[in-house]
Amino acid sequence: MTRLRFLTTIAPILISATALTLRVDAQAKPDPPKSVRLYVFDGGVLESDPARYKMTKEDVGTTQLSVAAYLVVHPKGVLMWDTGAITDADWKPTGKPSVQTLKLPDGQGRQVTITSPLLAQLKAAGYTPADVNYLALSHYHWDHTANANAFAGATWLARPLDREAMFGDKPVGTSRPATYASLKNSKTMLIKEDEHDVFGDGTVILKSAPGHTPGHQVLYVKLAKTGPVVLSGDLYHYQAERRLDRYPTFEFNVEQTRMARKSVDAFLKKTGAQLWIQHELDAHTKLKKSPQYYD
Ligand SMILES: [Zn+2]
Repeated sequence: MTRLRFLTTIAPILISATALTLRVDAQAKPDPPKSVRLYVFDGGVLESDPARYKMTKEDVGTTQLSVAAYLVVHPKGVLMWDTGAITDADWKPTGKPSVQTLKLPDGQGRQVTITSPLLAQLKAAGYTPADVNYLALSHYHWDHTANANAFAGATWLARPLDREAMFGDKPVGTSRPATYASLKNSKTMLIKEDEHDVFGDGTVILKSAPGHTPGHQVLYVKLAKTGPVVLSGDLYHYQAERRLDRYPTFEFNVEQTRMARKSVDAFLKKTGAQLWIQHELDAHTKLKKSPQYYD
């Protein structure tokens, strides 16, 4: 009897404490938008040699490549697409462009000039990694995975063949396994179908486009005002690569890439989407950056 009285007294207090916690959490997160938003993050400028893509300086015009990452905010959740080339913890921002050099497992050096950390740009949009429900990588190359560990708490939407290569015995020469090691224990959804509708309403779709890596994919985002866009991953790096039908020298499988490009072309035609080549510096430079967004 005494015990029962204790429970009836304490129970309402416990319930109201829980309700308060939930309310505080909800306030900390931005309200979900009514329609899909796309935030563009700048991951710096990558020095590049067009010869790696079987082209000349004259073919490409601008030889440098952009590094981009994106946040898709849907009324039902938040998806991070790619995570940059330089890990935030590895450099100190000064507000001015900072030249970062790194060595890949295959011994090749790379240089990226970066101005703003990824998580700072995410924060400018109003989000922290804890607010991100899903992480998807176009593929596992180093210049797309740098801050992947920060999103290990999200559900990873992974292509099985890329995941296998990422955690294989031998690291792939153009990957940096330490930057994504935490994903090994992430809640993971293995995506096996050609098209995966992330939020179930046809507005955000992962589309398989293998060849650059075995599980390379692109992302379709249907925006109400901007219209539909496809984020290319590394299906192309330069506009000229598309125009001249050239392929990188380091593809996992060129024949697959050729077919993937055809399949994405047909998809672009069917959906009326524009293709955003993530590494195309001139186009990327012109895009609005977080906290501005496309909707
Ligand atoms: Zn790549």
